[in-house]
Amino acid sequence: MTAPLIRIEGLRKRFGANEVLKGVSFEVARGEAICIIGPSGSGKSTILRCINALVPFEAGSIHVGETDVGDPRLDKIALRRRVGMVFQQYNLFPHRTALQNVMMAPIQVLKQDRREVEARARALMAKVRLEGKEDAYPGELSGGQQQRVAIARSLCMQPEVMLFDEVTAALDPETVKEVLVTIRDLVEEGMTCLLVTHEMAFARDVADHVYFTDSGVIVEHGAPDALFTAPRHERTRAFLERVL
Ligand code: ADP
Ligand code: MG
Repeated sequence: MTAPLIRIEGLRKRFGANEVLKGVSFEVARGEAICIIGPSGSGKSTILRCINALVPFEAGSIHVGETDVGDPRLDKIALRRRVGMVFQQYNLFPHRTALQNVMMAPIQVLKQDRREVEARARALMAKVRLEGKEDAYPGELSGGQQQRVAIARSLCMQPEVMLFDEVTAALDPETVKEVLVTIRDLVEEGMTCLLVTHEMAFARDVADHVYFTDSGVIVEHGAPDALFTAPRHERTRAFLERVL
């Protein structure tokens, strides 16, 4: 049994008087796909933002490998290189081509060799099934295509784990599926993934383990088949009845 890649213990986070995470604990092993589901406002995005050090937290601990994310001397750039994150809003640079968007961070942030980065970026464009769209500008691509560029951009930093925060929530229904297929490809290749999603069928299909959160706590968790077919808690049952 290898040490978990992400280890969260007793995580607490508040925004002013609003306690948003009330003691959240879980682990993600290398190569695992973990889904977090739960109602809006339950703290799902905040968990991911804490892992990536986008927001500070008051109590508990987060480790990514050996790195203590709560350490005030944390090197955030080094952490975010290892922990890729994709959001609902893809925020591509509109005046850069798809390929340039994918290449930008490794060259500017990591000072990597342009030719090496370009070769990797082209391979990633193919991996997210956008071969031929390298020179397209974001405005010429569908929402689903732009989101796949955003995924390739994050992968080009060669992260150890990917965090996905409702990456299909803003997309037209017809492009949702192509993004989910891309994520499933990654999971099947063994990329460690932590996904917040409203796509229950997808969660059931790809997740090794599912966590249901409500009001800042993990209400229950389990293997997807068990959690979706036989939830143990009333709150989980009520949520699944609403969304399934
Ligand atoms: P979810 O992703 O499950 O919808 P969030 O983690 O986004 O939930 O939000 C959890 C709670 O934290 C909500 O009540 C939200 O209003 C609050 N919250 C999130 N971000 C901030 C912020 N930057 N400032 C103040 N409150 C916030
Ligand atoms: Mg959210």
